[in-house]
Amino acid sequence: MTADVLPMQKLHIKNLDCAACAAKLERALKKSEGVEDAVVDFVNQLLFVEARDMDRVRDAVRAIDPQVELVPATRTATHDAREGAPGVNFKKEIALLSAAATLFLWLLVSGSGWVSPLSFRWQLLIVMAAYLMAGGNVLAGAYRTIRQGLFFDENVLMVIATAGALAIQAHAEAVGVMIFFKVGELLQEKAVYHSRRSIRSLLAAQPDQAFLKTLEGLRPVPPKSVQVGDTIVVKPGQKIPLDGQVLEGESQLDTSMLTGEPVPLATQPGDTVMAGQISTTGALTIEVTRPFQESSIARVMDLVEHAAVRKARTEKFITVFARYYTPLVVAAAAGIAFLPPLLTGASYQDWIYRALVLLVISCPCALVISIPLGYFAGIGLASRHGILVKGSNFIDALAAVRTVVFDKTGTLTRGVFAVKKIDSRNGFSREQLLELAGAAEYQSNHPIARSIQIAFEKQGGRIDAARLSAHTVHAGLGVSARYDGQSILVGNENFMQRHAIPHSRSDVDGTVLHIAVDGRYAGAIVIGDAIRPESLEAVHALRDQGVDHIAMLTGDNARTAAMIAADLGLDNYHAGLLPEEKVRALEKIEQKRPNGKIAYVGDGINDAPVIARSDVGLAMGAMGSDAAVETADVVIMTDSPMKMAEALSIARATRRIVWQNIFLAFTVKGIFIAFGAFGLATMWEAVFADVGTALLAVANAARILRG
Ligand code: ADP
Ligand code: MG
Repeated sequence: MTADVLPMQKLHIKNLDCAACAAKLERALKKSEGVEDAVVDFVNQLLFVEARDMDRVRDAVRAIDPQVELVPATRTATHDAREGAPGVNFKKEIALLSAAATLFLWLLVSGSGWVSPLSFRWQLLIVMAAYLMAGGNVLAGAYRTIRQGLFFDENVLMVIATAGALAIQAHAEAVGVMIFFKVGELLQEKAVYHSRRSIRSLLAAQPDQAFLKTLEGLRPVPPKSVQVGDTIVVKPGQKIPLDGQVLEGESQLDTSMLTGEPVPLATQPGDTVMAGQISTTGALTIEVTRPFQESSIARVMDLVEHAAVRKARTEKFITVFARYYTPLVVAAAAGIAFLPPLLTGASYQDWIYRALVLLVISCPCALVISIPLGYFAGIGLASRHGILVKGSNFIDALAAVRTVVFDKTGTLTRGVFAVKKIDSRNGFSREQLLELAGAAEYQSNHPIARSIQIAFEKQGGRIDAARLSAHTVHAGLGVSARYDGQSILVGNENFMQRHAIPHSRSDVDGTVLHIAVDGRYAGAIVIGDAIRPESLEAVHALRDQGVDHIAMLTGDNARTAAMIAADLGLDNYHAGLLPEEKVRALEKIEQKRPNGKIAYVGDGINDAPVIARSDVGLAMGAMGSDAAVETADVVIMTDSPMKMAEALSIARATRRIVWQNIFLAFTVKGIFIAFGAFGLATMWEAVFADVGTALLAVANAARILRG
């Protein structure tokens, strides 16, 4: 990021009534002066904008559409879920529509000859009244579009079609089409609103109350007002409202809100807990370690919400497509209406009617609305499973993955090492060796470091931080520090070679940590990690899904890497890699595998560069590591490689449904356009087909949510 990048601001959009209007607004804003970038998320009614001057943005929006209002959005989605009011006033719309429908029925009945027919003047009056009641909004929308000199939208299409019908005195058609179009719009709006709500409720894990421990006892307060360092109490069955550390109490945690995993997690004093987990069995006293805005759950909401900013290519394509397609259809309709009668002397009445059918059927609503909704549902479903996808473009990328590359330590393996052997040399004792290693690793958060610290503490050792200084991490190599005035190096063979320290090789399987003190070799600690039980399952699941190359990159030695690769049946591995060498190894794999995308799954420790470099970078178990959350395209909340396979299958299902919708819309439209041109379809059928397709597409998109 460069220094002058403007922050992306999030605003709520009110009274934005159609997906096409959203696209229109987005394009106009992007062109406005002082606006760096703008993205409109129609599904969530949000505007993301990068601009120097927000007043300018407001002015621009007002100029584009005076109805639309911008209100500052709260940081997280759940709040909105409770408000979540639909963009239209349903009651008013329904009242108007019912009145229009009554008049319309009267018109039909009076035309049938059962009752005395109306005079022409009365008939015209009723037609106009019903037409205006049903289509008032549509007319206003069309007027706005035309006045802005923008492209044709569905409102314009409908107005031209119905005005044409009025002109050729197809009165019932004009009113009927308007009524059904409106009914369809309302139903769509309702359907979108419902799926929006159910996606939101997936995420509505946000706690709204914290019990703050004060001198006067427990006080319920909103989580936002709790400060870092405050103490809160969570009773059994309650949701933990903020991230923190357990001071007192033991409990089983239900983490499914965050991770999608139903397995309960035992917690005790000293453990960290995250907002959104539910304490099921015991009461916990917790010291808050992060303000609410930075808590895990708030970040989850934020990530999912911002996913709309990164649109999939399909999504962008449809917006652009609708922009050219609609005027094209209008031109084609004009051709059909006037050319055949001019050339062959056929009846204008006939051909104009056919052209009107074409106009009605060509409305692109089904596509414009169902595609973003489909992606949003996919992202929502993934997040319920503890997989945060940062944009619909990554859904597309995941769906195209044919190669998966895993990191080893902490990803395929548990990252919890047991000491297998301590081999001291040059007069050092084994206890001394462990103490030196423990001291050097004291400030590192690498899984190796944590395991060494635990082994040392088990022996009854304690590190005095005051005796420690100059701690440095050498990524992919080891650590160095000064302890009691001695300079200590702990790391792999490569690390020893770099410092020209003669060392012995170990014949034990495992990760070898060589230790040197003041440039003198002190021996080695051999530690062993275990493969995660889910790793093999994940490899099989990925193969079942057509991933035909699975590789592993690791900074560990070749011997350990070979063993793990063989155990898991991987296609390839590269060992002894520094973080930047991992990038090169990935690029090599990329050259050999030009088909399909490459996903890299890491734990975010020593592999942020590869995560960033790959087509889709996934960070696992990463809510603790800010860097990984920043760089990854997909954040996996749990420590399970199986989530990679799950992410793939969700992405594929989402893509499939999005394509079904595209196919459905094009087929139905194609058939009806042909029928209409040959005079085989009526305006009634056209409007039913159009509304039906849109509803079907929305319902299909909502199917994704059911997984
Ligand atoms: P992986 O690529 O398998 O996830 P890392 O890149 O995290 O592994 O680490 C690679 C190697 O670097 C480790 O196997 C170890 O030999 C060495 N190393 C990394 N960090 C440390 C540390 N804190 N202490 C000792 N050795 C380390
Ligand atoms: Mg790792």
